[in-house]
Amino acid sequence: NSVTRGVTKEIPTVSWDDIGGLKDVKKKLQQAVEWPIKHAASFDRLGISPIRGVLLHGPPGCSKTTLAKAAACAAQASFFSLSGAELYSKYVGEGEALLRRTFQMARLASPSIIFFDEVDAIAPKRTGPSGNSSGNATVGERLLSTLLTEMDGLELATGIIVLAATNRPNAIDAALLRPGRFDMVLYVPPPDVEGRYDILRIHTRKMPLGEDVDLWKVAERTELFTGADLEGLCREAGMAALRECLRSESFACDDIHFQAALRSLRPSLTQSV
Ligand code: ATP
Repeated sequence: NSVTRGVTKEIPTVSWDDIGGLKDVKKKLQQAVEWPIKHAASFDRLGISPIRGVLLHGPPGCSKTTLAKAAACAAQASFFSLSGAELYSKYVGEGEALLRRTFQMARLASPSIIFFDEVDAIAPKRTGPSGNSSGNATVGERLLSTLLTEMDGLELATGIIVLAATNRPNAIDAALLRPGRFDMVLYVPPPDVEGRYDILRIHTRKMPLGEDVDLWKVAERTELFTGADLEGLCREAGMAALRECLRSESFACDDIHFQAALRSLRPSLTQSV
């Protein structure tokens, strides 16, 4: 119908254990997102109001989206996701309408989490004190003011938390960071060696690994790989094993397959991150 049009609700099935490393980030999200929904009464009793929004920033492929889904799953909340770039590219007025419908649906389906990917696309820094000089609000400005109005309106609604992700935190309009909006800003860093080891273990959970595979060594050799890169590496090693086992009878992913995958892939990150 007219309210649900274009709005997608999801019930994610990602658990915190599906995310390697990032212990601190996970803990903070648990407290900021999972607790207010699961323990709403205790928040009330203590007289504290939960955070309305959390901004996640960090390089692409390092699990911002997955974290938001895990938070929704742990809180047993409905998950609504919107892409800033997609909203921005809609016909005049359609992006704002979709934004409003999403908040409306989230209220109806509460507890809910609304997740904005690439939020910088709808909330870019405004240039001057009064925006552009032409007097006509640009697409970005109209989307931003709709988002701010909707977020401010959340004061009255309980059980709705807005999460947003960006790779470019410096490009975001400061209005989004005022109290009552994105009160918490979390950096989601690329994985260190321990994080990479964790991620490799997660993505090889269902693979029959040969005895000679040493995931710690693989972790050491994958500096500058993101979580998404590591997932790709495991898939590539699995494919190398598959090509071989179609010819022979051995059904294991061995060290040589990881070596072959490592030779064929490049990390997404550069030293400057
Ligand atoms: P983008 O900014 O490109 O949207 P993102 O930071 O939101 O990226 P995700 O989409 O969450 O990243 O991650 C991409 C994929 O990489 C996920 O499907 C997930 O399987 C894998 N991945 C990334 N980080 C991790 C991690 N820490 N543990 C396990 N898997 C990970």
